[in-house]
Amino acid sequence: MADVPHELSAQIGDGGEDATGDDVALDPGEPQFDLVEPGRVSRREVQPDTIKRRAMGKMRAVQVAQGGGALELVEREMPEPTQGEVRVRVEACGVCHSDSLTVEGQWPGLSFPRIPGHEIAGIIDAVGTGVVGWSAGQRVGVGWFGGHCGRCEPCRRGWLIDCRNLRIPGISYDGGYADAMVAPADALAAMPDQLSAVDAAPLLCAGVTTFNALRHSGAMPGDVVAVLGIGGLGHLGVQFANKLGFCTVAIARGSDKEALSRNLGAHHFIDSATEDVAAKLNRLGGARAVLATVTSAKAMTPVIEGLAVRGRLIVVGVDVEPIEVSPLQLIGASRSVVGHAAGASIDSQDTLGFSALSGVRPMIETMPLSRAPEAYARMMRAEARFRMVLTMAEQH
Ligand SMILES: [Zn+2]
Ligand SMILES: [Zn+2]
Repeated sequence: MADVPHELSAQIGDGGEDATGDDVALDPGEPQFDLVEPGRVSRREVQPDTIKRRAMGKMRAVQVAQGGGALELVEREMPEPTQGEVRVRVEACGVCHSDSLTVEGQWPGLSFPRIPGHEIAGIIDAVGTGVVGWSAGQRVGVGWFGGHCGRCEPCRRGWLIDCRNLRIPGISYDGGYADAMVAPADALAAMPDQLSAVDAAPLLCAGVTTFNALRHSGAMPGDVVAVLGIGGLGHLGVQFANKLGFCTVAIARGSDKEALSRNLGAHHFIDSATEDVAAKLNRLGGARAVLATVTSAKAMTPVIEGLAVRGRLIVVGVDVEPIEVSPLQLIGASRSVVGHAAGASIDSQDTLGFSALSGVRPMIETMPLSRAPEAYARMMRAEARFRMVLTMAEQH
């Protein structure tokens, strides 16, 4: 299934930057496909054309020229950080379903051409004026949270991810489908040495979304916590739930996900195609929290009866259809249904740190940047197991 972890209601920032210079189509060259086990990175030698390109102040990027258009590999001017910004030499960038907002031009006010990508792992290689606490050579990540305004009411209350002028890499400004990108310093998360760039990338969106939702779920160690949907988000959610000490229940359609779910740390598995989900959750004592990662509101409705007293249905999977819940279901046991946005940059940093500490890793398939269109298409067909990650390894 395709997981879409973001609030569509957040507003775009100041419109971001436009591309500069002429874009020249590049030959994508020989395709390469690597299936990378968690924790392993494949690297290639520095290519002579890469050295030449960098010396000329150019970089490769995969952009969308217009909404609904194709992803195209182009040569761009190397961007320079201005006040409060850093340039990140991208090592890996995850491909997220929300990238379709850019590719399809669905985000209001989006300006083109635009480079998608908001699961960015790399190294700071240039620092703009006024940046404090970050320096060149530091390993960093940038996720969906691409900067906040500091002026709106949610910002003033400290709810940075709810900033009404939230900036998002790949939407408000150019993202990580490129050799380099520029980000405001407040969007940065420090990346621990124990995590490879390809493993860190999906944690910056799918990871922080699930980890942050679970750690704020109100559930305590030992409580029953269910993860609905075992896909890009859910396969991380199950691992986090286990490592956070919850009695972890995986819920998916069909028994084919059972072995995988148990390997990821699920103590129980419910096949929603053949079993009564609510009845089974209640036999376990009821769920203190259910993390709904599926993109189907219809699939969320049946779990509500399986919530314990004061249990919460935490919605991170996006759908435009309504979730059906009666007031009686909510009032009778003080249950709640809540939405949860990904998290700010410090939440991403916490996610990376917790993953390094506990051994949580995404299951990924990598492709080189030049094959971004193929990686994107594979993700959109829900064929990725479970996250596609683009690598810029020619630079190493
Ligand atoms: Zn995302
Ligand atoms: Zn704000």
